[in-house]
Amino acid sequence: MASLRMTEVAFCNSPLLDVAHRSQAGSEGYYSNRKDDEKMIKRKRTRQIRVGGVKIGEGAPISIQSMTTTPTADVPATLAQIKRLESAGCEIVRVAIRDMRDAAAVGKIKAGARIPVVCDIHFDYRLALECIKAGADKIRLNPGNIKKPDEIAAVVKAASKARIPIRVGVNSGSAGSSSPDALVTAANRYVKKLEELNFHDIIISLKASDVVSTVEAYRKMSKVSDYPLHLGVTAAGPHQSGIIKSSVGIGSLLLDGIGDTIRVSLTADPIEEISAARRILSSLNLRNFGPEIVSCPTCGRCQVDLLRIVEALEGKLSAMKYQPSDRRPITIAVMGCEVNGPGEAREADIGIASGKGSGALFVKGKVLRRVKEKHFVTELLKELKKI
Ligand code: SF4
Repeated sequence: MASLRMTEVAFCNSPLLDVAHRSQAGSEGYYSNRKDDEKMIKRKRTRQIRVGGVKIGEGAPISIQSMTTTPTADVPATLAQIKRLESAGCEIVRVAIRDMRDAAAVGKIKAGARIPVVCDIHFDYRLALECIKAGADKIRLNPGNIKKPDEIAAVVKAASKARIPIRVGVNSGSAGSSSPDALVTAANRYVKKLEELNFHDIIISLKASDVVSTVEAYRKMSKVSDYPLHLGVTAAGPHQSGIIKSSVGIGSLLLDGIGDTIRVSLTADPIEEISAARRILSSLNLRNFGPEIVSCPTCGRCQVDLLRIVEALEGKLSAMKYQPSDRRPITIAVMGCEVNGPGEAREADIGIASGKGSGALFVKGKVLRRVKEKHFVTELLKELKKI
C-alpha cells in the first residue's frame, strides 16, 4: 500500500535563507532554500512584515493563526483561551473588537499573552485607534465597512507611528460578491488607498466561503501583488467539513507556493484550528512539528490490531513536546503486513512491518529484531529516543 513518504525535508521555509539560495529566486520571484530537491514547494517571493516578533513573508516559516471566541472584554476568559492556543502551537492570535470595552481590554490581553495580538476591527475606525494605543501588534480592517478617507488616514497614521501592519481583510460580504475578481478588486482598491498614504506594511486576505472562489482569488492576487498573503477559507463550517474545505483550499494554494500565514476557520474549539493547520503544513513538508507516522489503511492481510497500535502511538507522540523546526521530521512507519510493509519500514527512520502477532523492527533501513505486537509502541518509542 502506498504511503506518503516524509523523508523529503522542508527547509524551504527557513528564515535563514542564504545568499546562494536567494539567488535561485530568479526572475520568477520564487525561491526554495534547498538546491537539490525538485520536490520542494517553491514559495512565491513576497515582502516581509512583522507582527510582534513573528515574521511573515519572504521565506519566513508559514505562521499559524487563530481567533479567540470569548468576549474580548472578558480578559480572564480571553487570556485563558489564548494560553490554550499558545500551548497548542498558535503563533498569532486575533481578538474581535466590537466596542470600546473590548478595545479597553487589549492592553491587559497584550500584557498576559506571549504571542502577538491582532485586533479585528469593523465599522468604527476609533476602535482601531484605541487598540493601536493599547499596543495591538496588527490591525485587521474590513474594506467593506471602514471606507471614509479621513478615517482610513487616521488609522494609517496611528499604525505608522506604532510601526504595526494592517491586514486588508476582504471577504465576500465586504466585496459585495464572492467572485474572485470582486475580491481582488476590493482588496487592491483598499491597498492603493493605503499606499497613497505612503503605508506599505500590509498583508492581504481574500476569503470567500467556497473553496473554488477563494483559491482563484488568491491565485489572481498573487500574480499582481507581492504583499504577504494570509490564507483561509472563511466560514468553512463544522469540524470535519471545515477541515476538509480548509485543507483543500489552503493546501491547493500552498502547493502553488502561495501563502505566508494561515488560519483554519472552524465552528469548533479554536484549539482544533491549530492542530489542523499544523497537519496541513507538515503534510506538505512546509514545517515540522515532530515525528510523522506513516501507516497503512490495513486490509485482509493485516494480522495485528494496527488501528489500536497507531492510535496509541499517536497519543504518545502528541503528548511529547516538540519545538517547530525546519529540520527533517523523523518518520515512523507502522505497516500491517510483510508484503508491502518492509519497503515502507525500511525507508522510514524507524518502522515495523507486522506479521502474525509480531513484526520486524527496522531502524534506518536495517532489521534490528522481531517484537511482539503488544510491545510495538514501547519498542518504537525506545528507538525514537535513541535517534
Ligand atoms: S496490510 Fe499490507 S497490503 Fe494491506 S494495506 Fe497494510 S501494508 Fe498494504
